[in-house]
Amino acid sequence: MSGGQDGRLGHAWLVGAGPGDPGLITVAGVEALRRAEVVLYDRLAPHELLDEAPREAMLIDVGKAAGDHTMTQEEINAALVEHGLAGRRVVRLKGGDPYVFGRGGEEAVALATAGVPCTVVPGITSAIGGLARGGIPVTHRGLASSFAVITGHEDPTKPEAAVHWERLATAVDTLVILMGVGRLDGIAQALIEGGRPAETPAALVQDAATPGQRVATASLGRIAEVAREAGIRAPALFVVGDVAGLQSILAPARLAPLAGKQVLITRTRTQASALADLLRAEGAHPVLLPAIEVERRVDDRDLAKAVHHLDLREYRWVVFTSANAVDAFLDVLLDRGEDVRLLGGANLCAIGDATARALRARGLRADMVPADADGEGVVDALRRQPHDLAVTGARVLLPRAEGARDVLPQGLREVGATVDELTLYLAAPPAEPPAGALDLVRSGGIDVATFTSSSTVTNLAGLLGGDLSPLRDAVIACIGPVVAKTAEEHGLRVDVVAEDRSMAGLVEALRRYLHSRQTTSEEAR
Ligand code: SAH
Repeated sequence: MSGGQDGRLGHAWLVGAGPGDPGLITVAGVEALRRAEVVLYDRLAPHELLDEAPREAMLIDVGKAAGDHTMTQEEINAALVEHGLAGRRVVRLKGGDPYVFGRGGEEAVALATAGVPCTVVPGITSAIGGLARGGIPVTHRGLASSFAVITGHEDPTKPEAAVHWERLATAVDTLVILMGVGRLDGIAQALIEGGRPAETPAALVQDAATPGQRVATASLGRIAEVAREAGIRAPALFVVGDVAGLQSILAPARLAPLAGKQVLITRTRTQASALADLLRAEGAHPVLLPAIEVERRVDDRDLAKAVHHLDLREYRWVVFTSANAVDAFLDVLLDRGEDVRLLGGANLCAIGDATARALRARGLRADMVPADADGEGVVDALRRQPHDLAVTGARVLLPRAEGARDVLPQGLREVGATVDELTLYLAAPPAEPPAGALDLVRSGGIDVATFTSSSTVTNLAGLLGGDLSPLRDAVIACIGPVVAKTAEEHGLRVDVVAEDRSMAGLVEALRRYLHSRQTTSEEAR
């Protein structure tokens, strides 16, 4: 078979996206996405994964929610073949595993028939992984040593139906039924008629492995009614068997304190990822609402002056008060055609470990990192330096944010330093905050809110029209007492004050708090 217009031979990857949590795709799946030129995706595949595709990739929504087919299967097959024959790298991103009721087999056949090379990248099927995230193991020693995954799509009363419910009813221990929410009554009835006791434990897991996950449990005889009352909707997994009885013990929220919690992150987008990763690793759902955006605001005259004194090696100290200040300063230097060598004559002071790490990331080592990270502590630490490093009588450069507190420059001047302030950026609320996250906060959907600086508190209040009451029932976690005080001034009841100012320290304090609260409430039960 010949290649595309430019003679290239195309290739298609049938990629399983896993059961809902974007973290549950395989490494091979992500790598295929990162190289894709065309992505055809299902509604069931987590849409966050589309961010992995190159910016210029063509993204095609093929629909595929029950009853809503944006494209028919024939059209999907044809599109895959067409892009493949045109010499493109095509990813077909499908929910769960591509070969479990995903019609992936048909797509592979179409590609094979047309002579388009194809690689299947298996995924975690919702039938097993989604169930697990719902708190139900598909097998369990002593309870279930076999399972079947069945489509519930067919009308169980039709005589020519391909699924033989009466035979399946007692043939395997765990029955996992996909696409069955619309036919719960009929399926339960057919299983009971087939000899499965009506008191067999059963469960439904809706939107498994997503922030919207919901679980309903009841006996097989009552599950349809209970699901109706709970308003369970597709997509959901219907499971019948003794393992469903383990849900009360193995529900994720009982296994780990942060599991399933919606955790608000208010720091800047670039700073959010480390915290988000730590939270995700424990099963939480990070909600990113950056209350601060860093906007470059450089005073060119001050900058020229700073560069001049740096060039003459006249600064004894350059004091960085935040990671943002480090990045802004070095970016500005690079833009001017300078680089880190300009700092060769100065000693570098970093306030806090995060600032020291930011310096390190730019190839610079902090000469001093004061233990006490507020303005007063820094002045004190600098004043107690030996003679050749003393600030008294020396010139000090202070790159910082517009509107930053005056404690530090004033304190340094009081001990006899000449301080050049260099305004580089403005930390302001975002012009266009993400609407989804904002709505979630307003509707009281946040379980935990994290604040890593006072400005994240004040700016969030600003974004919410001055009113932080939607966070009334949320657990409030702050880094350090200064931030906690700001939160309290805004009417919040602070539950967690992390003494260790790193993101790991914040998460550790939070999980300890939630864990002890959980243990207490279980003892009370
Ligand atoms: N290939 C997919 C299944 C496709 S059939 C897989 O391996 O998981 C679609 C059905 O899968 C839905 O009707 C629902 O029953 C189930 N399903 C898929 N993702 C789900 C999720 N996150 N939560 C609950 N059920 C899900």
